[in-house]
Amino acid sequence: MNIHEYQAKAVLKEYGAPVAEGVAIFSADEAEAAAKQLPGPLWVVKSQIHAGGRGKGKFKELEADAKGGVRLAKTIEEVVANAKEMLGNTLVTAQTGADGKVVNRLYIEDGADIARELYLSLLVDRSCGQVAFVASTEGGMDIEEVAASTPEKILTLPIDPLEGVTDEKAAQLCDALELDGDARADGLKLFPILYTAFVEKDMALLEINPLIVMKDGHLRVLDAKVSFDGNALFRHDDIMALRDKSEEDEKEIEASKYDLAYVALDGNIGCMVNGAGLAMATMDIIKLYGAEPANFLDVGGGASKEKVTAAFKIITSDPNAKGILVNIFGGIMRCDVIAEGVLAAVKEVGLQVPLVVRLEGTNVELGKKIINESGLNVIPADDLDDAAQKIVAAVKEAE
Ligand code: ADP
Ligand code: MG
Repeated sequence: MNIHEYQAKAVLKEYGAPVAEGVAIFSADEAEAAAKQLPGPLWVVKSQIHAGGRGKGKFKELEADAKGGVRLAKTIEEVVANAKEMLGNTLVTAQTGADGKVVNRLYIEDGADIARELYLSLLVDRSCGQVAFVASTEGGMDIEEVAASTPEKILTLPIDPLEGVTDEKAAQLCDALELDGDARADGLKLFPILYTAFVEKDMALLEINPLIVMKDGHLRVLDAKVSFDGNALFRHDDIMALRDKSEEDEKEIEASKYDLAYVALDGNIGCMVNGAGLAMATMDIIKLYGAEPANFLDVGGGASKEKVTAAFKIITSDPNAKGILVNIFGGIMRCDVIAEGVLAAVKEVGLQVPLVVRLEGTNVELGKKIINESGLNVIPADDLDDAAQKIVAAVKEAE
């Protein structure tokens, strides 16, 4: 689960990280009061969306030469004018996809006097099975370019979970970021704080880009992007309260209510599958035959009829799904339960697109019988290969 920048900064502030003062607002009416709470003489008006690249982003509704999603303001009037222009509009960045994201919240923040922009992040490094810091002196809005063309400028430093951030590791990070004086002292304090926050809150990613050295020589967290491990959210009510559903795909929210693993994708074949491995294989084979999956939906092991019904309804509600492939290997999951769930969903919402069903495993004969006797226009398939070819052909034909 992702949260907004201002929320991430509040979490880090609790742990003692140096962040600027700021006020989040939801409407332009609040802009003036928010700016007045800050000292000035520089304010920054920052779009709050669950995506980075905001500074270089463009608003769909504004002229091409209009300013981006992070704007400096030298007066309170400018803060208000920018807030009016930004709120309610759609920001397109390198990370949002072409549709962009509507800006419903702004963060009005104290402007910092920047001497240097650094990059610092924490992530779970699967290659060594540890949490690792990633650090570079080349922070700011072009870090992706640095990673691609000069990867030697980026240090990856794994942290042993039994040792934590030792003095030696903290010093290595200071060296990599070329910190001295006050900035070095700030860094030595900051790195263990970030590591503790990451571990205690079950973060999956904590990215500070930029971490800045200010003209007064001190460090400040200027941007913060945090995402959490969804499997650990049950033990963090405070973090769950930060969820912004307007940032999430509606179908994914619906799926999460039924504990279904659903991810919306860009293609046109909806897939209902049981087990993540079978879901991956199904997506691969659809691609092999020249089409793209519209989603990844795993109904899981011993799903009930209700869960299967909900899953099928989510797939049929996707206007991009021009065909549906049900591919089930019944182990714990029973094929007859799948068949009943599909029928119940079709009774409620109808079926406008071709449906290919491949069932195998426990109670397969009963499952096939239920579908055959239903009068539904189902294309039966015998194996994975057959099923994929049939749905790809059916969708092409319908086009
Ligand atoms: P994004 O990464 O989404 O573009 P950032 O928060 O990193 O958004 O902001 C982009 C740039 O705007 C930063 O690299 C920095 O140069 C500038 N900036 C952001 N916040 C402030 C601030 N509080 N004071 C001064 N400059 C800022
Ligand atoms: Mg940034």
